[in-house]
Amino acid sequence: MAAPVTDCEGSGGDLLHVSITRSTAGARADFVVARIRPMMVLDVLLAVQREHDPALGFRFSCRVGMCGTCTVRVDGRSVLACQTEVPDDTTRIRLDPLAGLPVVRDLVVDTGPFWRAWAQVRPYLVPDEAAETGMDTEPAVIQPDSAEREVIDPALDCIGCAACFSSCGIASAHRDFLGPAALNRALVLIADSRDAASRERLDVIGGESGVDRCHYIYGCSAACPKGLDPARAIRRLRGRRFRRER
Ligand code: SF4
Repeated sequence: MAAPVTDCEGSGGDLLHVSITRSTAGARADFVVARIRPMMVLDVLLAVQREHDPALGFRFSCRVGMCGTCTVRVDGRSVLACQTEVPDDTTRIRLDPLAGLPVVRDLVVDTGPFWRAWAQVRPYLVPDEAAETGMDTEPAVIQPDSAEREVIDPALDCIGCAACFSSCGIASAHRDFLGPAALNRALVLIADSRDAASRERLDVIGGESGVDRCHYIYGCSAACPKGLDPARAIRRLRGRRFRRER
């Protein structure tokens, strides 16, 4: 049963109606907070917590779109709360936890499945033996404007926010699917000529738990707050796997 709407006491200005999924109450709860302008979704959450319920559960840390911890669904779209402004003419918003991940409390989810998929692609550069022993005389720098950089750079700035994972129906339905972020990370490393584990990664990212499961709905790419295109990365990976090309 939904909790009653709680008016924002003493507010003479315009108001925002906020509907939040509460795991503790087992239902949605509705609140009213005073509008400020500009007002980010994180401002809304802090206002609800400050004015109505200190026990409201949500995560945030950096407030500048870098830590990737404040991701929630706003009217169904997975976004960073700290970077998403409530439009001026909006009087109601609905907030839900990310989809496809177990809820810990209210808007806090267990990101374990996301990070376990990430770990499966060995998400770090694996140097070859020559680089590790210092015997490599070539500088370990990928040249700007090279074909390699053209693949790597657009896929590089992932902050691990899981907005893409939450927006992917397959990631929610099939726990063994690696998901958009892990596959995007795999492309970054497979395309890097300094990496010694790329052939092994091409095996990991194949099949129904990897690139073959993607239906190219592009929900992941539409959701990414850093402007990455994980669906394109998956398409590129599929081509590379087919050609056995690093
Ligand atoms: Fe977030 Fe984009 Fe990385 Fe997905 S690819 S985790 S949406 S930054």
